[in-house]
Amino acid sequence: MKTFAYWSRLDEQPADGLLKLIGMFAADPRDDKIDLGVGVYKDEGGATPVFESVKSAERQLVESQPTKSYVGPEGDIGFFRGLLPIIFGADAPTQRIVGLQTPGGTGALRLGFELLARANKEATWHVGAPTWANHPPIASAVGLKMASYPHIDLSTQALCIDEMKAALAAATPGDIVLLHGCCHNPTGADYSEAEWAMIAELCAERGLLPFIDLAYQGLGDGLEQDAAGVRIMARKCPELLVAYSCDKNFGLYRERVGALFLLAGDAENAALAQTNLLSLARANWSMPPDHGAAVARMILESDELTAVWKRELEGMRQRIVAMREGLAALEPSLAFMTRQKGMFSTLHLTPEQIVALREVHGVYMAGSGRINIAGLVPANLSQFVRALSAAS
Ligand code: PLP
Repeated sequence: MKTFAYWSRLDEQPADGLLKLIGMFAADPRDDKIDLGVGVYKDEGGATPVFESVKSAERQLVESQPTKSYVGPEGDIGFFRGLLPIIFGADAPTQRIVGLQTPGGTGALRLGFELLARANKEATWHVGAPTWANHPPIASAVGLKMASYPHIDLSTQALCIDEMKAALAAATPGDIVLLHGCCHNPTGADYSEAEWAMIAELCAERGLLPFIDLAYQGLGDGLEQDAAGVRIMARKCPELLVAYSCDKNFGLYRERVGALFLLAGDAENAALAQTNLLSLARANWSMPPDHGAAVARMILESDELTAVWKRELEGMRQRIVAMREGLAALEPSLAFMTRQKGMFSTLHLTPEQIVALREVHGVYMAGSGRINIAGLVPANLSQFVRALSAAS
């Protein structure tokens, strides 16, 4: 028997640090332990429940779905069209926008980067650091070079706008700029509308392609407000991409619901790009999973279900805002919490302090110091703040 010993040629890959943290948290016997590690929304009971709007749509779907036959590589077009005005506004230039349903926001990012590499394999993608830990592996899998500039100074929690401007001013025309549309993961530090306008101006002036990752719409300042960045960019930049996830704002995580939107300079180029998106989707996953996107579509098609969904999403947002306000009120050095948006902020802590918080105080957070604000409840806010000052 001959063997090429394929698998022994592979390098061992590190395990996901957050998954390890989940195991450690589960094994901790303390009753008052606090989980700020995992990146999902939690209610005051610590649960990540299925939305009522989703349950209703699922019931209707089960009753009415006539077939489980394939959808096309573009996925559920009604879902895509339903999202479009939520992201780009009622006056969106729809004749210049194409795209498709993808398996989660991750699938949209991957497909977007593949399309960009197909169009310009020399492009460098620029990103503010820190960013979502999955961005670099997704982009490097398609062979694009990465360049980073500082997004935030954690010691002051101030955005590094000058560094960003300098990085974009020095970028090569045709380069890509990856931006978080709202609720920056992992820092919660978003741009103001004036800063978005400045970034849009720079991108348009320099011929840079904005790739906006919008994974938390509705969890920052509100559904409309959280789209401001995308809309400003879409008005000023002739071409851009938006990777969208419905996994947080519909609570559909495991159903893998996302979409990629592409804005082109004109309808002809939009159609050309769409043929490429479809062929890339076909070569990756052929066709996306249907269930979650069909559920989101049914919610968006029904005024009644849309109203329920918006109420549920707004309730989540308000809970996050209340926790941020609670932290700022208890501890002046956490005042920045109310300027930041969404589920995440990153604390300026040493690795030793992060270990002490976990081992001595039962407070679990990512090794980067990222905390999930939705892991806090009114009853453990002051316990968390006490642990923080004891460990600092
Ligand atoms: N982009 C950011 C910034 C995220 O935080 C996440 C998920 O954590 C995603 C994209 C991907 O979301 P999905 O679960 O839909 O793939």
